[in-house]
Amino acid sequence: MSDFKVIISGSGPAGLAAAILVAMDGIKTAVVAPASQLTDPRTVALMQPSMQFLKYAGLWTPDIEAVSAPLKRLQIVDDTGNYVTAPDVTFSAAEAKLDAFGWNVPLAHLTPSMLKRAEALGVVIIDDKSESSELQEHSTVLRTAKGQTLSAEVIIAADGVESPIRKSRDIKMESWRFDQSALVTTFSHTGPHGFMSTEYHKGAGAFTTVPLPGNRSSLVWMEKPGKAQKLFELSDAELAVEIQIETKGNLGRISDIGTRKVFPMRGERAAVFAKDRVILLGEAAHTQPPLGAQGLNMSFRDAAQAADLIIGAKDAGAVSVMKEYDKLRRVDVIPRQQMISMVNTSLLSEFAAFGLLRAAGLAAVAKIPPLRSLAMAQGLAPSSNLPFAMRG
Ligand SMILES: Cc1cc2nc3c(=O)[nH]c(=O)nc-3n(C[C@H](O)[C@H](O)[C@H](O)COP(=O)(O)OP(=O)(O)OC[C@H]3O[C@@H](n4cnc5c(N)ncnc54)[C@H](O)[C@@H]3O)c2cc1C
Repeated sequence: MSDFKVIISGSGPAGLAAAILVAMDGIKTAVVAPASQLTDPRTVALMQPSMQFLKYAGLWTPDIEAVSAPLKRLQIVDDTGNYVTAPDVTFSAAEAKLDAFGWNVPLAHLTPSMLKRAEALGVVIIDDKSESSELQEHSTVLRTAKGQTLSAEVIIAADGVESPIRKSRDIKMESWRFDQSALVTTFSHTGPHGFMSTEYHKGAGAFTTVPLPGNRSSLVWMEKPGKAQKLFELSDAELAVEIQIETKGNLGRISDIGTRKVFPMRGERAAVFAKDRVILLGEAAHTQPPLGAQGLNMSFRDAAQAADLIIGAKDAGAVSVMKEYDKLRRVDVIPRQQMISMVNTSLLSEFAAFGLLRAAGLAAVAKIPPLRSLAMAQGLAPSSNLPFAMRG
């Protein structure tokens, strides 16, 4: 008999989502992760299916809502300065018959509240680092840095891009690099954001503002790595001026810059998402630039899909569970990663043809109603196979 039915390696938002969902069904679950001070300045735009998950899991509390803002409009502005530019495209939630496409939620608030919820549901939190895992005849074991050996029917590797569990099982990654980094911060502005997120497409990548409560927004500014580092090193007053120039005054005067961090941009995908009693989820399975805010939304779908299969299975690590998870997640993750790479590459490419294609695509989306509906629907979630916790 195993120590646990499910062991989750990693206590980021993706791993905790899986822990909460299986624990809600009374499954004996442990999370192995080093205790950390969460100072992540990122906010995440969570679309409606992710919001359904937060509500279903008891995570959409007044405290979290108070620090988050609804996304009522999404705008794409072609600011490439190319010879042919696309018209601005604005999607409104009302057009899609929604109050909001989703909400912009600070990770520094969400992740600790997810940890508390997992503990309240009886998840055993083990303050240790996973080192490796191996397959046994009817179970799998996880070995930790402090020398513990824990057994389970299945291990969920949610331990980030450098996942030690994935590496110890020799699951290969397909990787592609972008000559970009993203500067992340928050700022205040004198003008209203009208609950609109704006993605300015620029020559070095996207520059995206996302509303927060009041006259405040978060920023993801993709740039060449050297320029991103220079921006990171500017004084608050200097950075405020740079942001004001890039936003073209659309948000009024910029001030009160928050904590900053620079993230290198990369694309990665595991060769297989589940095998031999290990399920990969979140950044342990896939990473991509934050265009269109897809990362954690996909990771929450990983977690909810894994939970559905585990809850319904007699043996949570059965071959059939592994195969079904891999199949269902590939059809969601791969096309989204391809679309993100295509748009990102079209911004970075020196070939005019790429820019023209992107501009034509955006122009079509702006003018052709069925394409607009399709773009909005696909931006929110896949059209079928939504996991139970996200159906509302
Ligand atoms: C600039 C930027 C903006 C983004 N904006 C959005 C957005 O608007 N919307 C969206 O949906 N997504 C967004 N994303 C993506 C999103 O932030 C990530 O997908 C998400 O935070 C990753 O969560 P995770 O749990 O998979 O990984 P992580 O948060 O990296 O968690 C991994 C966990 O594993 C733990 N760990 C590491 N090593 C070990 C070990 N040896 N043993 C045990 N545990 C270990 C770590 O301590 C950590 O807790 C953005 C990403 C970036 C870079």
